[in-house]
Amino acid sequence: MRWQTLLKNSITTPAALGSRFGFDSGPLRAVAERYPMRINPYYLNLIREKGDPFWLQAVPDEQELHDMVCMPDPLGEEHLSPVPNLIHKYPDRALFLVHSQCAMYCRFCTRKRKVGTGDMVITRETIDAGLDYLRKTPEVRDVLVSGGDPLLLSDERLESILKSLRRIPSIEIIRIGTRAPCTLPMRVTTRLATMLKRYHPLYINTHFNHPDEITPEAALACSRLANAGIPLGCQTVLLRGVNDDPRIIKRLMHGLLRIRVKPYYIFQGDMTEGTDHFRTPINKGLAIMKSLIGHTSGMAVPKFAVDAPGGGGKIPLQPDYVHHLGANLVFSNFRGDICSYQDAGARGQVTGDRG
Ligand code: SF4
Repeated sequence: MRWQTLLKNSITTPAALGSRFGFDSGPLRAVAERYPMRINPYYLNLIREKGDPFWLQAVPDEQELHDMVCMPDPLGEEHLSPVPNLIHKYPDRALFLVHSQCAMYCRFCTRKRKVGTGDMVITRETIDAGLDYLRKTPEVRDVLVSGGDPLLLSDERLESILKSLRRIPSIEIIRIGTRAPCTLPMRVTTRLATMLKRYHPLYINTHFNHPDEITPEAALACSRLANAGIPLGCQTVLLRGVNDDPRIIKRLMHGLLRIRVKPYYIFQGDMTEGTDHFRTPINKGLAIMKSLIGHTSGMAVPKFAVDAPGGGGKIPLQPDYVHHLGANLVFSNFRGDICSYQDAGARGQVTGDRG
């Protein structure tokens, strides 16, 4: 089935879900009125039972209306936008939002305040204003095209944006952030991949959260992109009840490498209003990182980071292996063995210390 047809056949109301899975969907109506719902037939077919990892990511939950300790715009994006839908937070790169919709509305989305709603207004005019800003801001050498999901644009519309970006001499790197290879892999047609390869150096960061999302369809989508010479990375979010388990994360990291996607980041959940029930303690993330580092290939170990509230940017978080930092570094390795390392140029000092 064509991806456009799949999208059109999405479930967008709790009532439709209730009749399929046989539950009282009434309490979810208010949730879907506040935060939009879309589950396309491909992702719907991944759901095996109520409460499984696919269900939790896709199906509205009453807790979204009650856990209000967080913020609608946790990363302060609206204050970092010189023009609507362009966020210029870091010195040499910018985030350019070119589409307001997604193939599925993830319940944990950082931009759930606006993605898929009438509050996210993206028009030709806003895209032109973004391009104009990038033309006048030559310090930006790397643009992340995102949304919503840019792959929900037609090939032609996406190509016209990429072409305009490529005409800006200061832009060296174009990245696309998309969850389509995971949530609607049929979107990645050979036609799309052939178009994208005209705009190198082009990178794609996709987003898988659970190893069972790596289906044959997702693998085919990623192989089409990789065969077009596009380096693929994955950004995963730690989600309570979905993937906050070292065995699940290790399976995910290995599965990603098998489909030629390099694990790039694991993110601590943002403090997004309506998503508090997904957040996990930072110590859990550190323990997961400790279960990866040294226990599997470095290729399978992404960076763990928290995106600082208010627009502070990504802060890397690392398990602590160091016991003493001086001329003689004392640390433990992944097995917990104590090791030491004598710093360069510290020989005399260390000898002196020993008397
Ligand atoms: S695909 Fe990304 S932008 Fe869209 S709802 Fe999911 S997390 Fe948000």
